[in-house]
Amino acid sequence: MRQMKLYDNHNHSQFSFDGIKASVETSARAAAAAGLAGLCFTDHCDFFVPAMKAEHEHLVPEQFDIIAQQNEIERVRGLVSGTEIFKGIEIGLEKRCRDSIRNLLAGNSFDAVIASVHYLDDTDPFWGGYYQGKDWKTAYGHYLETLFEEMTWLGDFDIMGHFDYVARYAHYPECSIFYRDFPDIFDSILKYLAENGKALEINTKTYQEYNGRTPVLDRDILLRFRELGGEAVSLGSDSHNPERVGDKFCMYADFLKSCGFRHTAHFSCRRLILEEI
Ligand SMILES: [Zn+2]
Ligand SMILES: [Zn+2]
Repeated sequence: MRQMKLYDNHNHSQFSFDGIKASVETSARAAAAAGLAGLCFTDHCDFFVPAMKAEHEHLVPEQFDIIAQQNEIERVRGLVSGTEIFKGIEIGLEKRCRDSIRNLLAGNSFDAVIASVHYLDDTDPFWGGYYQGKDWKTAYGHYLETLFEEMTWLGDFDIMGHFDYVARYAHYPECSIFYRDFPDIFDSILKYLAENGKALEINTKTYQEYNGRTPVLDRDILLRFRELGGEAVSLGSDSHNPERVGDKFCMYADFLKSCGFRHTAHFSCRRLILEEI
């Protein structure tokens, strides 16, 4: 059987505030050892950090040194063969920082831009504050609506990051996000991605245990994306250490095939490339 060419399009390195266990070099070597065809470093850039998080982690806004990161990627490209290494960014969407986001993307070159929501309502789901006073449906629905509003405003991105980030850190018994519970907002999101050639991300970091519960990926979301003409699905481990690079990719590539997709997506110089699986 032909070996699948798999690309991990979502990884953090020492240039992310929370990626200190992952250097560009060790993750690139791990990707090559795992037989991945490509790896993209998408370090964090959030222009806004909620006070709650800043207090816990002594953080200032989380931007990385783009020039230094890209120079390091160039250096490591010369050391690792067999795995393509791409330059990316994970930009944190936030209404109050729209101008800064747009200016940063316009002023730099990347292979891939992931647009994600990490913080909303002045809180950070990771620290729990977001869920207070909300039932699961309100909490997940508001996250999806915020993601839709901000990404359609931005437009200038390639991959929609982890739509189910908000489910990871919740404590509700409903630990997964299903199409059937949010059909209208999912239709808006998926239609936008499909019509604009942008990729839906399968973020494998979500499908591990959090607070004794393990979120799952809903097949209906993928099926609906296909139905609406969506073709581009990106696999991302969201690794913050080299051990997680390419995590569960064969399983999710098979899952994609079983949903009728024939490709995975990756990006080079902001251009969509579909690789047969
Ligand atoms: Zn993220
Ligand atoms: Zn990430």
